[in-house]
Amino acid sequence: MMRLDKYLAHAGYGTRSEVKRIISKGLVEVNGVVIKKDDQKIDETNDEIIVAGAVSNYTKHVYLMLHKPAGVISSNYDPMHKTTKDLIHGYDHLQTFPVGRLDLDTEGLLIITNDGLLAHQLLSPRYHVDKTYYVEFSGDYKAIYTSLFETGVTLEDGYLCMPSHIELLSEHTALLTIKEGKYHQVKRMFMVLDMTVTYLKRVSFGPIKLDENLKKGTFRPLTEDEILALK
Ligand code: URA
Repeated sequence: MMRLDKYLAHAGYGTRSEVKRIISKGLVEVNGVVIKKDDQKIDETNDEIIVAGAVSNYTKHVYLMLHKPAGVISSNYDPMHKTTKDLIHGYDHLQTFPVGRLDLDTEGLLIITNDGLLAHQLLSPRYHVDKTYYVEFSGDYKAIYTSLFETGVTLEDGYLCMPSHIELLSEHTALLTIKEGKYHQVKRMFMVLDMTVTYLKRVSFGPIKLDENLKKGTFRPLTEDEILALK
């Protein structure tokens, strides 16, 4: 658990006083609820924290595509693990942050930006941005699951997922497209169907596809066309 203002400052949204200001303006949502108290305790691993609106002093917006490797935390700060910030060189002064998160062991496409408004839109469940994952799994894939994914899988806590789309590539590999980003969502969707995800890689986020030439752990700026497609 951690104070909300401390978390946001560590995550690169600004100085302590800047983040206190965006919190009091009502621009921060924790699990879908606007929080205006800067000393609110949050669970930095489980809570879904969305910040609308850019922090002051941005000189310009940057949009980067990172090929996240396993073993790296999707955050600007972590006491134990290497973070995505450690992989992004040359952009320190621009206060970038990852758009959403991939699990520690998940690889693939992560967009890094300092455009808070765009990040908010891309993460908001209201906008239903498609995210496609390449999944390797163990267990039996039963034919009926395909329509179950299409209708909506119910997670172990009773949450009914929005319709998703699965394309089976082989007995134990698939491409799964989801419109939300609940905590461990893909792993949990497979788990409730008695299958275990053994490898997970995000291959696309909205209109952006992971560049196959981008080596794990490296990044490149999005092209003009990619940025336009996102907006
Ligand atoms: N679903 C998961 O389970 N993990 C991720 O990292 C992304 C989606």
